[in-house]
Amino acid sequence: MQGRWPSGKRCAVGLSFDFDAETIWFRTLRQPFLGQMSRGEYGAREGVPRILELLRRYDLKATFYVPGWTADKYPHLVEQMHAAGHEIGHHGYEHEYVVNKGREVELEVLSKGIESLQRITGAVPKGYRAPAGNAAPHTLELLLDHGFTYDSSLVGGDEPYWIQTPETGRPLLEVPFSWEMTDTSHFLFNYHPYYTGMSSQNKVYEIWQAECDGAFDDGGFLSIVMHPQVIGRRSRMAMLERLIRHLQEREEVWFATHLEVAEAWLAQESVS
Ligand SMILES: [Zn+2]
Repeated sequence: MQGRWPSGKRCAVGLSFDFDAETIWFRTLRQPFLGQMSRGEYGAREGVPRILELLRRYDLKATFYVPGWTADKYPHLVEQMHAAGHEIGHHGYEHEYVVNKGREVELEVLSKGIESLQRITGAVPKGYRAPAGNAAPHTLELLLDHGFTYDSSLVGGDEPYWIQTPETGRPLLEVPFSWEMTDTSHFLFNYHPYYTGMSSQNKVYEIWQAECDGAFDDGGFLSIVMHPQVIGRRSRMAMLERLIRHLQEREEVWFATHLEVAEAWLAQESVS
């Protein structure tokens, strides 16, 4: 396992934040109600500033997957992410599901999302994560057509791996996540539809620390998926900081953006 990651690092940890804001409420769950929308606003008002401050204090780079709508509404926050050197990835336009909508709709959503991010960063994003991990068949093709380096919507492995696009079988690098390492699986509460949520942060810390330790032992990769409106609570930010401190006790842990992980993986493949 030695030599897989840059600078002799033993394992790679990718912190990622899906900045859905209100889109998950008004679009994904079709609940454009003030109460639900304000949950999304919490992510922008409290979550993002706390996350950016934490990353700054520990000198870490992360990946923010941002729907185009969110970038259009909160450009100042996305500008701050970009200016701090974090990766900005594509996450749909309104966090919509485009599975079964056809190639044309998938292309329209992908293009709109790219335009919104490009207005802020000046570049086409290199990474994509489908809203709620629901990757649509044509989008994976379209990512390659638009010069994306990787997808991070699937959960089929621990390490980056190759997938074949559904239509033409072209290779696309997958940088996988997992539901175990996603904050919403544990913390997101809702009445309708009912999500239990409200896990103790001690319970989640126990799971996340064990997963991190396993990745370290394997010399592997681990993606952590968080949402500003969920992880951004004070109690959960304290849990995240505790985890970062645990990981930083080991100098061989490489904190990297998902794009850096993808590029390191590709570089390694090209020499082996
Ligand atoms: Zn999302």
